[in-house]
Amino acid sequence: MHKDIATPIRTKEILEKHGFSFKKSLGQNFLIDPNILRNITDHAGLSKETAAIEIGPGIGALTEHLARTSGKVVAFEIDQRLIPILEDTLSPYDNVTIVNQDVLEADVASIIETELAGYEDIMVVANLPYYVTTPIILKLLMERLPIRGICVMLQKEVGDRISARPGTKAYGSLSIAIQYYTEAEMVMTVPKSVFMPQPNVDSAVIRLTKRSVPPVQVQDEDFLFTVSRASFAQRRKTILNNLTSQLPQGKEKKDLILEALSKAGVDPTRRGETLSIEEFGVLSDALLPDFK
Ligand code: SAM
Repeated sequence: MHKDIATPIRTKEILEKHGFSFKKSLGQNFLIDPNILRNITDHAGLSKETAAIEIGPGIGALTEHLARTSGKVVAFEIDQRLIPILEDTLSPYDNVTIVNQDVLEADVASIIETELAGYEDIMVVANLPYYVTTPIILKLLMERLPIRGICVMLQKEVGDRISARPGTKAYGSLSIAIQYYTEAEMVMTVPKSVFMPQPNVDSAVIRLTKRSVPPVQVQDEDFLFTVSRASFAQRRKTILNNLTSQLPQGKEKKDLILEALSKAGVDPTRRGETLSIEEFGVLSDALLPDFK
């Protein structure tokens, strides 16, 4: 077994050898604690039959753990300066492909087809760049990629919102969008001291396991998300007031909103944060004919 990349000494050595300087704008906070990396890969549930997709390998700290514990790794790295470094640090591993692309622009589905053919179990595992956490997770889910799930490090505050249950302060349209596709669990909180440089925010690891069927059947998924976003527009307002001010022609069609709320069995004086995904599903179907 080779020496871990993710120790403070080895990381410093690699950075110095290649004259690398961190770009804050790319969310470059590298992990320097092998125990945390082992925990992440354990929570992801990997085996040699699993393929791992990584977003943002950095200098390869997590990538090498993925290479050891899974069958194949494909890693998307936006920063071209890191490509020669990764070639060097990951040279002991022959099951890693680095793709020098912005993951938000990449055609992930076709890369899975070409690079991971034959793998039935595919997991996204990453220490995400924090400036684009939510767009990355939403892209991976909305593109309906053939993945089992996503196990990633992110800002704890975003992890709280993603995994929040109804009736809590953190619960909102992000919880609904992600829990519609997945079962979300916060599996670990992580101190700032395991990063170089240390980020300003607390971190956590979240595991999203894709659902085989959604928690509620709706006629139009996009409209479900429109209704949930509208319902949380101003958290202190009632659901009736939010829908009235946010839906197209809501003010003129208040009666129709009241009718839909009644049909869905939702008291108009409730706040959005008290509704379950199932209730939002029924409500969005009731509003659909008049507001889509
Ligand atoms: N995996 C490494 C680790 O844990 O030490 C680095 C993680 S660091 C938090 C995030 C990485 O994502 C950086 O290497 C950064 O260059 C890369 N990155 C930032 N934006 C990206 C994007 N849009 N697509 C792909 N990689 C990105």
